[in-house]
Amino acid sequence: MAKQTAPVKKNETITLEFEDLTHEGSGVGKIDGYPLFVPYGLPGEKAQVKVVKVNKNFGFGKLLEVDKPSEARVEPPCNVYYQCGGCQLQHMSYDMQLEMKQNQVKNVMRKIAHLDHVPVHSTIGMEDPWRYRNKVQIPVGEKDGALITGFYQQRSHRIIEDMETCVIQDEVNDRMVEAVRRIADRLGIKSYDEKADRGVLRHIMVRTGRETNDTMIVIITRTEKLPHKDQLIKELTETYPHVKSIMHNVNKERTNVILGRKTNLIWGEEYIYDSIGDIRFAISAKSFYQVNPPQTKKLYEKALEYAAIEHTDTVVDAYCGIGTISLFLAQKAKKVYGVEVVPEAISDAKMNAKLNGITNAEFVVGEAEKVMPWWKAQGLNPDVIVVDPPRKGCEVDFLEAMIAMEPKRIVYVSCNPSTLARDLRILEDGGYETKEVQPVDMFPQTNHIECVTRLEKKVSN
Ligand code: SAH
Repeated sequence: MAKQTAPVKKNETITLEFEDLTHEGSGVGKIDGYPLFVPYGLPGEKAQVKVVKVNKNFGFGKLLEVDKPSEARVEPPCNVYYQCGGCQLQHMSYDMQLEMKQNQVKNVMRKIAHLDHVPVHSTIGMEDPWRYRNKVQIPVGEKDGALITGFYQQRSHRIIEDMETCVIQDEVNDRMVEAVRRIADRLGIKSYDEKADRGVLRHIMVRTGRETNDTMIVIITRTEKLPHKDQLIKELTETYPHVKSIMHNVNKERTNVILGRKTNLIWGEEYIYDSIGDIRFAISAKSFYQVNPPQTKKLYEKALEYAAIEHTDTVVDAYCGIGTISLFLAQKAKKVYGVEVVPEAISDAKMNAKLNGITNAEFVVGEAEKVMPWWKAQGLNPDVIVVDPPRKGCEVDFLEAMIAMEPKRIVYVSCNPSTLARDLRILEDGGYETKEVQPVDMFPQTNHIECVTRLEKKVSN
C-alpha cells in the first residue's frame, strides 16, 4: 500500500479557506481534502496560516493574518484574549456563537445518539453576554518582588502579567481579587512558588451573590498559617462592607486542584446568600452553584416546564448540588428526593429547604449511581426524574436504575453534549423517547454549552 503523506509540511505558511468550525470553535480548512484546524479562524475567511502540527489524517495551524475577514468577526474586548484561552469565542459575533452551539448539539444528536429527528431548538442566549460570572478562582504569583494575579497562559502555568480585568467576570469579584492582592502584598505575604513548592498564597477565590451582592472570599495557602491574618481581615472588611464571609483553605499538595481539604472560617458567616426567582439559597465555599445567574433562571424555568410536575408527583433530583432545582420542583410536587456526593452541598440543601419553608424535600449524601439502585430496592418509584450530572455524564448503573424505576418523564440537564448524547442512546434503548433539546448559553464567549432535554416513557403496545 502506498504510504499516504500529508499535503502540507510543518512550519510552512499556506493560504487556507475556512469552511467550518470544530466544536471547540476552531476554523476548519482543507488542502486537497486534508483538514487543518486553526484556532480563531471563521467560516468563509481566507487566511495566512502557519502549519504547526501534521498528523496522518489532520493537522493544526496558527492564524497569522486574515486576508478576507468574515462579517461575523468582531474585535475581542479583552486585552489578553489570545494569550489566556479561558475564552475561545470572543472574536466571533454573539449570534454566530449561539448558532455554533446549536449546531454542535445537533451534530452529537446525529453522530452519537443517532437521533436525527429530535428537534434541537435555537440556543437561548443572553441580552448582554459579558460580566456574567459570579465566581472567580485566580492563581497568585510574583514579579519583581510584588504579588501578581492572573489566569495562566494557554497550556502553561505562566501567569499572564498584564491582565487588567476579566470581561466575563462580575466587576465586584474582579475588584475583590485586586484588593486581596494589594493588601497581601503590602503586608509582605509571599506567593506560592509551584516549581520549588515553597511560599504561601496559592489562589484567591471570590464568589458574589448577584441578587444580594454578598461576597465570600476564600484565601488558599500552602501553609497551615495565614500570615497577618487579622490585619488582612480588618482591612478587607472595613473597606468592603459587602464582604460577608472570609474562609482560609489549606492546600499542601503539589496539584492542579485548587481547593485543599481543610477550609476554616476566619471571619463572618460560613455561607453567602443569593436568590433565583422566589427562592433564597445559602452557598458554602465547597458547594457547586451555577456561575451565570440570569441564565440559570432561564435554564431552571425550562427544566421545570419540561418536568411538568403535578401536585401528586414524587420526583427525584439527581446530582442536586445545594438543592437549587429540587426546591423549585418541591413547590409543585408532593415529594422530592435529592442526591448529591458533596456533603457540604447536602447540608446547604437541607438548610435551603428550611430557609424557604419547604418541608417536602429530602436530601441524601452519596454517589447517585449507588443511591438510585438503593432507592429502587426500597420501592421508590418516582413519577418524574431530573438529572444534572457533571461533565462526565451518568454512570450506567445510574441509568439502569432510572429506567427500572419507570418514571413517566425524565428531564436531563447537561453541561456536556457528548456525554448527554451517549446517555440518551442508553435511555432510548431502555424505553424512553427523546422529545426535544433546548440549548442554553450559560457560558458566553467560551465553547461550553448547557442543554435541557425532555424524555417521555414510550407507550408500550
Ligand atoms: N443541579 C445542581 C448541581 C449541578 S452540578 C445545580 O444546578 O446547581 C453537578 C453536581 O453533581 C455537583 O454538585 C457535583 O458535586 C455532583 N456530583 C458529581 N458526581 C456525583 C455523583 N457521582 N453522584 C452524585 N452527585 C455527584
